Amino acid sequence: MKILVIDDSAVMRRIHRNILKERGIADQDIIDAEDGQVALEIAAKNTIGLFLVDWNMPRLDGLDFVHRVRAMESYAKTPIIMITSEAARYNVVEAIQAGVTNYVVKPIKGEALIEKIGKYLDA
Ligand SMILES: [Mg+2]
Repeated sequence: MKILVIDDSAVMRRIHRNILKERGIADQDIIDAEDGQVALEIAAKNTIGLFLVDWNMPRLDGLDFVHRVRAMESYAKTPIIMITSEAARYNVVEAIQAGVTNYVVKPIKGEALIEKIGKYLDA
């Protein structure tokens, strides 16, 4: 299963990659994107089984990405985990309404992330 990690911070992308690798995900199954626009292009050319998406990014942010990717037939039900510092209640509601499957608030801990995405990894 391919996992698409979408974050404008290269440091965050590396942290996520390392967490996933510790969980046993092969390096080649983890794909990086630096914003939502790049992520949409990658999603169109690959079969992604799980999205980890940051909220605040240039060009196309995480919320707009979720709206756009959910409109793609092949990604109507694919798990999308939003990882963000936007922890206000209305943000959570907005993200869920856009189609986010689950939500992790920064600063993330590896264990907390794995706990939230574990069931999708095992599926
Ligand atoms: Mg960001």
